[in-house]
Amino acid sequence: MARVVCQGIVKEYCAGSRAVDDVSLDVADGELLVLVGPSGCGKSTLLRIIAGLETPSAGTLRIGETVVNDLSPQERNVAMVFQDYALYPHMTVRRNLEFPLRMRRLPRADIDAKVAHTAQLLGLSTLLERLPKQLSGGQRQRVAMGRALVREPSVSLLDEPLSNLDAKLRVHVRAEIAELQRRTGTTMIYVTHDQVEAMTLGHRVALLDRGRLQQVAPPAELYDRPVNAFVAGFLGSPPMNLLRASVSRVADGLALRVGAQTIGIQIAGADASALLDRTDLARVATVGVRPEAVDLVASDAGAGSLRATVEHVELLGHETLVHTSLAAGGEQPQRVVARIQGTHALSPASAVRLRLAAGGLHFFDADGVALGRAK
Ligand code: ADP
Repeated sequence: MARVVCQGIVKEYCAGSRAVDDVSLDVADGELLVLVGPSGCGKSTLLRIIAGLETPSAGTLRIGETVVNDLSPQERNVAMVFQDYALYPHMTVRRNLEFPLRMRRLPRADIDAKVAHTAQLLGLSTLLERLPKQLSGGQRQRVAMGRALVREPSVSLLDEPLSNLDAKLRVHVRAEIAELQRRTGTTMIYVTHDQVEAMTLGHRVALLDRGRLQQVAPPAELYDRPVNAFVAGFLGSPPMNLLRASVSRVADGLALRVGAQTIGIQIAGADASALLDRTDLARVATVGVRPEAVDLVASDAGAGSLRATVEHVELLGHETLVHTSLAAGGEQPQRVVARIQGTHALSPASAVRLRLAAGGLHFFDADGVALGRAK
């Protein structure tokens, strides 16, 4: 087990273009950290740098107390699991698990003990004499994990390990990985492009965009306090609504201007008032509101609601997603999604009114930097 510290890591595959751009990240001993971001944001590159499969163009990497920049992957004692987990097809599960230990020429008794322990940990004890082709996808994935973990690495690195599994199995194996990590206490860095996977698995989540680290925080904090509009818009399904808007202070809260509409938003409590005073409201260029903080209200709700037209409706059983576009008075219409509990059959093109929960508003400046949040 070990701590992993990246300091100012840069990777330029070609001059002037940074796949990883000045990333500093401190992964605690025994932590499960998820690296997430859109395709091409540099997740795999960063993981491969930690594994020793790529050389950083700049920066320092420590595993435990040791600077490992110049150490080979073997010398780093890290294990890596890739999405296309290649097991040796002609070897049994036992032989597959033994392989990394035999390469190290460990004594037979040690090998047997470690294989038995790993197999038990991963629920593979009854499958040891099978060939990979006699296993399900999930079982094969567990053998691949076992082969990585049997060496008792200081750090386990997983690169989209579940992307070859179907959705149901993915949920199942994901829970197994979390449980395994908890039981072994191994430091784990897990790469995925799937924000649901990131939010459910990570002790902390590190979100990358175009090579740059945007925010590293526990899942709930990332969701509730995104530091910028990119983070806000990446997390959540559907993600946060981000509206071009301006706000000003009025007696009992805010006046929010979105396109041609201006509504009043009442904000209660001294905290909110203090926050609004601190936040430079004149700089607000984008207001974010999650779909669950948008409600449909009766048409007589007065000045506190936005006029919109239903575009389409997704009935999910326990909830309904209502996709709307705001009445814009000639300006470019903006879309807002509302997530409403239960089933609501609304026909497309019908007129609705949207109320935004005061406590659900996030404010961002013209560069997308978070200015604060009404509470
Ligand atoms: P992710 O894992 O987030 O999808 P990658 O780390 O694979 O992103 O890639 C980050 C960027 O670096 C991308 O623009 C990609 O095209 C580029 N890249 C990755 N590997 C190489 C390589 N071996 N040579 C040149 N460019 C690469």
